[in-house]
Amino acid sequence: MTGPSTVRAIRGVRDILPPESALWNWFEQQARQVLEVYNFREIRLPILEPTELFARSVGAETDIVSKEMYTFTDRDQTSVSLRPEATASVVRAYIEHGLHTWPGLVKLYYCGPMFRRERPQKGRYRQFYQIGAEVLGTSDHPAIDAETIELLVVLLERCRLTQWTLWLNSIGCPVCRPAYLARLRQALETVAPRLCADCQRRATTNPLRVLDCKVPEDQPLIDALPKITDFLCEGCRQHLDGVEEQLALRGIGYRPAPRLVRGLDYYVRTTFEITTPHLGAQNALAGGGRYDGLAEMLGGPPTRGFGFALGVDRFIEVMQATGSVHIEPALEVFLVWMGEDSYAEAVWLARRLREQGFVVEVPPEEMKLRRALSLASRQHARLAVILGPDERQSGRLTVKRMADGTQQSLSEPELVALLQAGRQADSENHVK
Ligand code: AMP
Repeated sequence: MTGPSTVRAIRGVRDILPPESALWNWFEQQARQVLEVYNFREIRLPILEPTELFARSVGAETDIVSKEMYTFTDRDQTSVSLRPEATASVVRAYIEHGLHTWPGLVKLYYCGPMFRRERPQKGRYRQFYQIGAEVLGTSDHPAIDAETIELLVVLLERCRLTQWTLWLNSIGCPVCRPAYLARLRQALETVAPRLCADCQRRATTNPLRVLDCKVPEDQPLIDALPKITDFLCEGCRQHLDGVEEQLALRGIGYRPAPRLVRGLDYYVRTTFEITTPHLGAQNALAGGGRYDGLAEMLGGPPTRGFGFALGVDRFIEVMQATGSVHIEPALEVFLVWMGEDSYAEAVWLARRLREQGFVVEVPPEEMKLRRALSLASRQHARLAVILGPDERQSGRLTVKRMADGTQQSLSEPELVALLQAGRQADSENHVK
């Protein structure tokens, strides 16, 4: 007889298990710290939004909206979607709560899962995690673009990631882009039949996206298409020059990427991406750009905006691949108690140690010493602390260092000092 079948996670969606989850927590904590010292504050957003929000902002013709959204009709017949990205939600919230009345720039960050029904592969998931930052307000000064990119560079440094490239482009604005698009369409008329099926479709629906094609055979033809940077209006040209100067003054190197258009319709002027050689095909760690006018498209006041989203899954994968950061949360004390009479004392000793921040495991049932020590070893405990009738009588604990098996008899303050010394050594080793 076979038992009931098991239920597995759906394709493209995964569990993040310990000990990897500790690296995720470490990374999110670093990102929050960096964002907060740059004066960004967290906005917590819904995961479900009206489908219309994404159709109107990301663009109904984009792959994200036309092919990849998880959309369903709610019981009240409204169409809702799992968010494929969060900039649109930030702008919706900005309008909904009148954040344009806040003094100065509105600088917000978010952190959480996004959903896109893409073909799953390494580095590409259907539920993935982004941390993103947005600067909204009345200014479009290039310093905003550069400072926001600077914070990403600081985060890369904190993660000890040294091999990455910043790609920079401007995709113009409603003043200069139409002339470029007309020129691009014209060029595509002759070239499109020799491009891949997706490009042939995009040549009519969304010609800018042709530039984003990754099909190897298409590359020489696409490289020869007109470049948007040759069509920028005076305002866009000056803005791009400004961003380049602002990056240079911050000591941030970049490479021009005239084909960098990104998969969302709302960008104007600056677009950028940070890639790494460690990820294979899915090599983008983060990307973003400027989206002046998006708030107006969503019925809000005239607003300028700049932002980015970074892929947490990918940062984690690069840190693992390069071994740049090693986080191993240790079980510091496995507390072996012997004899029912020792249990209450063990409970309170554990409570005092935990209050001081030490990680302590107390087995719920009494165990034979040999079994307890074997379990402590398999759980990678630093110390096994033994508390039985002898220890209760002497007022000293038997402390066994699991790494080398050495055993000492220590008072509680001596045990705490030993644990603190271990912590110290640990923090020096955490980030290698
Ligand atoms: P985008 O919103 O497409 O600009 O994506 C910003 C960043 O999110 C990318 O640079 C990736 O690091 C990450 N990302 C986007 N899509 C996925 C995905 N399907 N799986 C994992 N990470 C992703």
